[in-house]
Amino acid sequence: MRLGKTPIITAMQIERRVAELAGQISRDYAGRELLLIAVLKGSVIFASDLMRRLTVPVTLDFVRARSYRNTESTGSVECTFHPEQSVARKHVLILEDILDTGRTASAIVEHIREGRPDSLALCALFDKPSRRVVPMTADYVGFTLDDRFVVGYGLDYNECGRELPDLYVLDEE
Ligand code: 5GP
Ligand code: MG
Repeated sequence: MRLGKTPIITAMQIERRVAELAGQISRDYAGRELLLIAVLKGSVIFASDLMRRLTVPVTLDFVRARSYRNTESTGSVECTFHPEQSVARKHVLILEDILDTGRTASAIVEHIREGRPDSLALCALFDKPSRRVVPMTADYVGFTLDDRFVVGYGLDYNECGRELPDLYVLDEE
């Protein structure tokens, strides 16, 4: 795996933006309890940083959906893990690492909505709107990116690079 020499977004920039998102979410959900559903595996680091900065009470659950092989979207989304707790009558916030074609988020939102939550919102740390195939907008977005494959802060290339604190562009040479 070859990455660009310098990060496109540093750990410190991510930390600041995550704190801002947490502030915004805490204000929007003041007086309510929030069920966070983190999309495995990419959003695990984001979820753990974000939840520690929220000032509303939260519970945490996970969903797993895959649409990717290497850097090519296969177009189909498999849901391979479902939240353990019921979403019925809860305020649910889905945490996604990155919105690309929108297929994964769209499939997950549809799936969660069937469980009849009181409210449902989507938070994506990174967003590549120019790649969208399915109409999908997040209620909260950390950073808007160009059409480049990025690695780090939970995001992988063939399962590698998730542990990197900064965000890099994959060098495809
Ligand atoms: P979508 O269904 O929106 O096309 O893709 C969403 C999923 O594809 C993300 O959750 C992520 O796993 C993967 N993905 C999309 N773009 C990137 C990227 O630039 N880097 C990495 N590491 N994964 C990406
Ligand atoms: Mg992912």
